[in-house]
Parts: sequence; C-alpha cells; structure tokens
Amino acid sequence: MDAKVSNTQYVFSFHDGDGKNKKLLGGKGANLCEMTQMGLNVPPGFVISTEACLAYLDSNDNQLPDGLMAMVKKQMQALEKETGKGFGDAEHPLLVSVRSGSAMSMPGMMDTILNLGLNASTLNGVIKQTGDARFAYDAYRRFIQLFGKVALNIADEAFDSQFEEVKQHVGIKDDVGLRADHLKDISERFLDVVKQHTGQAFPEDPYEQLEIAVQAVFKSWMGKRAVDYRREFNITQDMANGTAVNIVTMVFGNRGNDSATGVAFTRNPATGENKLFGEYLVNAQGEDVVAGIRTPKPIQNMADEMPDLYQQLETLRANLENHYREIQDFEFTIEKGKLYCLQTRNGKMNTTAMVRTSVEMENAGVIDRKQALLRIDPHSLEQMLYPRLDDSELGSTSLAQGLPASPGAACGHIAFDADRAEMLGKQGQRIILVRDETKPEDIHGFFASQGILTSRGGKTSHAAVVARGMGKPCVAGAEGIHVDVQLREAHIGDTVLKEGDLITIDGSSGKVYLGELPMMEAEFTPELETLLQWADEAACLKVMANADTKEDAQRALKYGAMGIGLCRTERMFNTSERLPLVIEMIVAENGEQRQQALDRLLPIQRSDFQGLFETMAPAQVTIRLLDPPIHEFLPSEQQLLSDLDELKHLYSIVRGMEVMVDAEQLVNPAADKARNSIPQRRLTDRIFSDPKSVADTISKKEAMLKKVRMLHEVNPMLGHRGVRLGITFPEIYGMQIRAILEATAECTKKGIEINPQIMVPQVCTASELKRIRSLVDEIQTEVEQQHKVKLEFKFGSMIEVVRACMRADTLAEVADFFSFGTNDLSQATFSFSREDAENKFLPFYNENGILLDNPFEVLDIKGLGKLMKIAVDWGRNTRKDLSVGICGEHGGHPQSIRFCHDIGLDYVSCSAPRVPIARLAAAHAALL
Ligand code: ADP
Ligand code: MG
Ligand code: MG
Repeated sequence: MDAKVSNTQYVFSFHDGDGKNKKLLGGKGANLCEMTQMGLNVPPGFVISTEACLAYLDSNDNQLPDGLMAMVKKQMQALEKETGKGFGDAEHPLLVSVRSGSAMSMPGMMDTILNLGLNASTLNGVIKQTGDARFAYDAYRRFIQLFGKVALNIADEAFDSQFEEVKQHVGIKDDVGLRADHLKDISERFLDVVKQHTGQAFPEDPYEQLEIAVQAVFKSWMGKRAVDYRREFNITQDMANGTAVNIVTMVFGNRGNDSATGVAFTRNPATGENKLFGEYLVNAQGEDVVAGIRTPKPIQNMADEMPDLYQQLETLRANLENHYREIQDFEFTIEKGKLYCLQTRNGKMNTTAMVRTSVEMENAGVIDRKQALLRIDPHSLEQMLYPRLDDSELGSTSLAQGLPASPGAACGHIAFDADRAEMLGKQGQRIILVRDETKPEDIHGFFASQGILTSRGGKTSHAAVVARGMGKPCVAGAEGIHVDVQLREAHIGDTVLKEGDLITIDGSSGKVYLGELPMMEAEFTPELETLLQWADEAACLKVMANADTKEDAQRALKYGAMGIGLCRTERMFNTSERLPLVIEMIVAENGEQRQQALDRLLPIQRSDFQGLFETMAPAQVTIRLLDPPIHEFLPSEQQLLSDLDELKHLYSIVRGMEVMVDAEQLVNPAADKARNSIPQRRLTDRIFSDPKSVADTISKKEAMLKKVRMLHEVNPMLGHRGVRLGITFPEIYGMQIRAILEATAECTKKGIEINPQIMVPQVCTASELKRIRSLVDEIQTEVEQQHKVKLEFKFGSMIEVVRACMRADTLAEVADFFSFGTNDLSQATFSFSREDAENKFLPFYNENGILLDNPFEVLDIKGLGKLMKIAVDWGRNTRKDLSVGICGEHGGHPQSIRFCHDIGLDYVSCSAPRVPIARLAAAHAALL
C-alpha cells in the first residue's frame, strides 16, 4: 500500500454524521443521521459523502478515492457488530440497501439497490434464518434485477419478460401468488439474463457488489435524467453538488402479514389537514408502493388492521414534526411487528396545504409568524389561483374515476407519451398526458402538460408526487382506463379515446370528463386571507393593482389590492360604443369639431373615474393620461385600402344597374309602368335607398385614409404619444384632467374620502411636466369655482424614459410622486424593442448565457436597477416625501419586488391576480 492514503473522512456512521450538513451527506443521509441521533428506530447504516462522489467524478478514469473502500469496510464491520450479522456470512448474512441522495430532493431521479449481499451461499443463510424460502428467493430476484438495472445498465424489460413468462407458464396472475420454486426459477433466469448481457457471471463477492453499486450511484449523478432534472429546476452546484450514498441494513416488509411498508405525510399534502396521510401495503417491499405496482391501502385502515403499530406511527409522526417543525414526508417499514423509519424529508405540498399548515402551525406555536410567511414561496401562490370546475358541472357524468392526486382542474388534448406531449405542447396545444403509470423519464411530458392522468398507482405514485410538486392537476389510478400506447387509444368501457381527443380532469375529485368543461376562478381560502394579512403587517411596500375599469377594481380588491397604481385611460376608449367618439375626435378637421367630440367623451370618462374612485375609496387611484399614439385607435391603412377597393367596386355595380334600367326603358318604353317591378331595380333599392350613400362612405373612408397617412409614424412607440401628445393637443389632456377633477368634486360633495392621482406618461423633461401642471391648475380653479369645493389630489410623473431618471431631481420639483414604468424603461435601457427581442434574438441570448433572464420578465437589477436607484435618490433629495412606485409588469415579480423594497419604493403595482403573490413577496423582502 502506498502512503498517499487520503486524510479526508468520506464515510460517516448514522451515529456521528452531522444531520445539518445536507451538502456533504445529502438530504436523505443527513436526515438518517439526525433521526438515529434523535433516538428514532432507523436501521443501522452509514453515509458515503458527496465529496467522495465528486472525487470519483473528477478522477481521470473513474477511480474511487484512495482509501474509500477501506473506510467502507470499517463501517461494514461496525454494522456487523451492531446487527450481529456478517456481510457475506452463510449463516447470518447481513444484507444492505445502497441508496443515493443529494442535497436537493430529486424524487425518483436516482435508483436504489435493495438486498445487496445476496449470493448463492448467503441465500441459503437467509432461507435457514427465516425458514422462508419464498421470501429469500423473492428478495434475491429483486436484488438481481435492481443490481442489473442500476449497476449494470440492463433494461427492465429483459427481466420483466422472463418474469411474465414464468407467471404465464404457471398460470398465476398476481405476484403474491408465486411460490418459492417459481421465484427460484425466476432468480435463475435473471442470473442468466445478466450473464447474457454482460458476458460475465453475476458478481458473488458482496464487497465487489458493494463497490460496483457505489460507483453506479456516483455515476448516476451525471446521468441524463439527473442532469435534465437539475437543469429544469435550476438546481445549481451551489445547491447540490454530487450525490451521497447511503448504506442501510435491510429490513423487510415482506416477511408475512405482520410486516408492511408504506409512505406517509405527517399532514395531508393536498389539503393541509392535520391528520396522518399515506398508504401502505402488507407483506411488501418499499418499492412496490412507490412504483404503483400494487394499489396500496389508505393509512387509516391500519388503525383497524394493526392498531398497535398505527399508534407507533402516530408517535413517530409527532416526533418528526416536533423535531423538524415542518411537515414531513417519510417512509417506513414494519418487519415482524417492529416499525422502522427509512427516510424523512420536508413534505412537498401544494400551496393550499402549505398555506393552511403555515397558519395552523403558527396557531399551535410550532412555528412563528415569520417562519409561517417565509416557508411559502410567493410564486407558488399562483397555484391557489388555479381554475377549478364550475360548480354547475358537479353533476356532469364523468368518464372515469381515479384518485384525486393533485388538485385543480385542467383541460387538454390527450397525448399518450411524454415525447408527443412535449411536441404538441411546444406547438401551443393544451395537453393532458395519459399513461398507465409515469416514470422519471416522462418528466418532460409533465412540463408540457396541463394535467396528468394515470390508470395505475396511488396518491404517492410518481405521477402524483411530481404533479403535486409542479402544482399541476393529476388524477392517478383511474383503473377503468385501459391505455394502449401502440394503438394510441384508451378504452373506458365502450368509449374509445384517441390521441388528440379533448378531456377534462379534476384533480380535486379524481374525475375524468369527456370534452371541455367550464371552469371557475379559484377562491381565497380563509387561511390564505390570514396569511396575507400577516404579510401586509410585515411588509413595508404597499401592493396596488393595475386596473382600468370599475369591474377590474372590484376584482383587485378581492385580491387585496391597497389601491390602483395604474389606470390606463386608453383602455376605456376601446369599447364599441366609445370608439366612434374617439375617432371623431381624432379625425376632426378643426378645433371646434374636436371639442364637440371631446364634450361627448367628457361625461363618459367622468363617470368612469367616479366609479373607480368610489370603488377604491379611500385608497389611491392613479390615473394615467392618454399614452399610446392616437393612430392606434384608427383602422389600419391596409384595412382602409381594402374597404375602399370593395366600395368602389360596389359603386360601379350600382351605377351599372341604374344605367341598365334606364337603357331598358329606351329599348322598350312600354315597360315604363312595370319599371318598379324589374327585379334589378328592386335589388338596388333594397341596398341603397339613396344611391349617393356609397359615394359618401367612399369619401369618408378616403378622408380617414388621409388622416391615417398623416398620422403614420416610422417608430410609433418612440413617436407622438404620451405627454408629447398632451402638449400638442392640449384639449385631449384637458378633457381627461377635467373628467378626473369633476369626478373628484362629485365624490367630495358626496362626502366620500378619495385619493386621486394624475399621472403623466413618457415625460423626459421638467418643462413638459410643468406645462401639464399649469393646465391642471387652470382646470382645477375652474372646477373648484363651479362646484364650490376644494379639490385634493396628487400630480406625478411616470418614469419610463432614461432621461427622466437622470433629471429626477428637477422632475421632483413638479411631481408629488414617481411611478416607474419598467416595461418602456426596460426597452429604453437595453434599446431592445420587446417584440423583436423576444421573437428573434432573446431566446438565443438566454440559452447561451449572454443574458441570464428576459429583462421584460425579470427586472434587470444590474443595469436598469441602477437607473432606478439614482432616480429615487435624486428625486427624494429634492422632495423628501416623494412617493415612488412601480407599475410595470415587474411589479408582480418576487425578485423584482425584493429589489424595489431595497431601494426604498413605497409601492408596487401589478395585475390583480398577481397581487397576493406581490403581498407575500413584499413581506419576504422585509423579513429577509
Ligand atoms: P428514493 O430516493 O427513490 O426514495 P430510496 O433510497 O428511499 O429511494 O429507496 C426506495 C425504496 O426502497 C424505499 O421505498 C424504501 O422503503 C426501500 N428501502 C430502501 N432501503 C431499505 C432498507 N434498508 N430496508 C428496507 N427497505 C428499503
Ligand atoms: Mg425514498
Ligand atoms: Mg409605458
């Protein structure tokens, strides 16, 4: 032996490993150490660290680090002592499982080998020890298959086909019906499969088995499944680097009817209900539950079937929660009446359950308010805003019934495999992935689907666990469905479903429906209300909504908006009865005509504003004066040209008919009396009582075309819009300002306390703002005199032009408030036009790491953020109490909200459904 034996300790007994060091020991390993040291009943074992994995992967020729196997041997000897068994011992053989586990939970991503240590001689030991040959051969065949698959890369099918062959041969349907000699036959066939595939006999030496297994687990870290999973979930090396290997003494849930295995949550992960939740199988090994091979029983059945053990489970549940102060998802096995805990981790729950457990654990004093808020990812609240089936649909007849595995309803076209789901999903189709059962390699199909439907497996099957984690609706174990992937059909009774057929699944009830069913918006649970109230108390930022109409405002209030941060007045113009007035205003030939149109718009806008003010009273309502270029309200040149074309065509036909009728009279004067009965004439009469109307329409369209051409701009987004428009057409802004102030006067007279704000878009210099301000002053005086009330309101500027940031100090002389319009400001900062960027080069930039995020979704803190900070600081230098907010789309994005908090903004404003997310994110920003 050479002297360079590594000093690094790569191996840790469950008795000594640091339960907090998940990076080193992996989540599973750290928790096995922690539970052992807490005194819970964990089978003896040890952890090989992630450092050993990295050393292995870094080595040139896949070499285990020096000295590792010697350390492992030492630990095995300790295990032998602790269990009184021997590894490879023919009398009392010690069997172990080899289990992977990294710092981040990656469910099902890497495989576990069970029953390692079995060979021809230890097998006999097990038979003698247990007196149960059936059990021994069952363990053996499982080991050979798992080892073959995980460590030797032999596909399951090679084993499964042998298994099925024997089953068919002996005429037995259920695995449990197989006798010892059948399983012996299967084991021997499996050994042959290995020999055929590898050209070598199955390794007999337990230490050789162990070494191969450890290497295989290490290698699986860089396997495609694991790498894909990490990429999809943005698991960086910082979060998890390498996998640990756990060597755990085997315990057996398949030792008879006093043995069992199961998985459980300390609380219900779908609803949050404070009640043990899970499934178990009597006389089975762990992977049977997870793989959904047999449909397990609900854990509550155990209270009757094994009352004593159920009590022990309840105790375990309490111990786990009290220690971890978090809902636990744990695996257990009962061997001959003795309960072992094989794994625990923080339970993945849907958001409804997260919110409920947060509130209930806080109320019970298990966690404090800060923890209650921080344990919920603001993004995830989106799940609670998921649609569900309309109540009126509850009576509809369903096609099939499965288990409600992940709540929410979804509708989509059937795809029978993940690849197809991905392909169709990318084309923008809504997809429901329909499978017998899902496996980790189907993960890309989950991403592409609206929901998942399986015909096999329970609520803890792969499909259920993964769907819940993603917050996608899932119906699992709908046993009435028979999926034929080859034929690409599914049969439910007499109904045949084809790929592409539309179905609706309800993950809350487990029902499956044909076609698309109406859905309902999700509602707030009382727990969410409570949690968000806590969030509001903890937050510094206020959360406003972007809302344009009274109805929007009512919705925003339901989501807990504390005001309206942006009302886009142009949206009010875009309804069919108003647009003609707006168009009249635009095409007016002179000031008088324009004023006439504006006079008719005024009362409409006034009542809009009054409705908003009253709905939101006494909260802030920020109204932005007209922003887009006005030609956006006119038809396009293209449209006008084609209309004109048709009209002219029509005109010449009408003229032709006139001529035809007159001509006929010349030819046959006797027809004069019958003239009115000539069909052609009647036709033209019907269309045009006044033939001149076609000519009129044509000339109107021509005038419009002229106007459209006049208003044409090369780059309208940088053109004649916003305050520029307001300054050159003061009567337009004048009408809007008057409508706002008159609405304010009406409310004030009614004694309603309101908080209106007038906001000017696209400002780049204080002179612009001053000009609008004096227009406001003028109108204010008039309205105050007219209504004999004093008007209270604020006047401010949108900050969406780079120059406005640089001139924030002077703008603040005129503005009471700023509101960052980060949509335009992002475009201006990057000189990217959003549509062009997102459709052309941005995806490439993102994929190649030139830009990490899409700056239109994630606020560019490094660049744009600096501009914002400068603007806030300079603005407040001039006006200490300057109120500053943000009303771009970023206002609803948690990471951006955090930044807004850091630079001292007063509020964020976002679309109504994002308000709850923003409220929680604002609390996080204040608490972190
Ligand atoms: P995963 O990371 O996919 O959950 P595990 O390492 O937990 O994989 O193992 C898969 C299954 O094997 C578990 O359900 C567990 O019950 C069972 N298992 C693992 N180790 C043992 C053991 N030492 N004794 C009995 N069953 C085991
Ligand atoms: Mg597990
Ligand atoms: Mg803008």
